[in-house]
Amino acid sequence: MEQNYITFLEKCRHLEPPIDIESMVHNMWIQTYYDAFRSFNGFTLLDNTGICIMINDTLSKQKQRFTLAHELKHCLENEMAFHGKNKGSQERIEQEANWFAGKLLVPDIALEYFYYNKTSNIAELADVFWVTEQTIEIRLKEIWIL
Ligand SMILES: [Zn+2]
Repeated sequence: MEQNYITFLEKCRHLEPPIDIESMVHNMWIQTYYDAFRSFNGFTLLDNTGICIMINDTLSKQKQRFTLAHELKHCLENEMAFHGKNKGSQERIEQEANWFAGKLLVPDIALEYFYYNKTSNIAELADVFWVTEQTIEIRLKEIWIL
């Protein structure tokens, strides 16, 4: 794992949920553009005007937030130009971006706090963190609660 985004996650883990991913991205000078793209959830463009993350706005807001966090990982790792690589490494990059997005939007320490002190209901936790129930389930498994 690259040190730069591990450090980034460490800095974010004490933030109050729901994590304001949009402000986080804008504060890093990354533009966002929302449109009804047909064939993808999101992608990142890099040109001489800077970095822009495109998000499919026909997705649920929870999925848009996850996609934005996923694309942010590609930006942090400079992974915009990985198309030439083999399929195996592409899949690994995608899995790592999903792992990053889950951990960023649902930090371990906040999830443990809410799970043990507020509610263990998956739907309620999804509302707290403003993510899908599937993301909560994956994150609970990752921190060994489920
Ligand atoms: Zn990706």
